[in-house]
Amino acid sequence: MKYIGLVIVALLIIGGLILWVRTLKARKSSRNVIQFEKAKNNMQMMQKCTYCKKINKITFYASANGTVVGVCKACKSKVNSEDMLPL
Ligand SMILES: [Zn+2]
Repeated sequence: MKYIGLVIVALLIIGGLILWVRTLKARKSSRNVIQFEKAKNNMQMMQKCTYCKKINKITFYASANGTVVGVCKACKSKVNSEDMLPL
């Protein structure tokens, strides 16, 4: 019977550790989500131009055959001449 007290203490410690790890994981994942969203926004803003391959602010266009291209401002005239639709 004298070990019951020890077992209860051990269970409390284990329970506390599990809760602690869970809150740590929850914090980590929420931070990851924020970083991911930031990265996603950056990707939408800054991407490689399909024509000149420079990292730039990109506008996406769809061609008649279904391919999607991202072009920078400088290459927009090429897209317009190929009769593509902005996305
Ligand atoms: Zn370009």
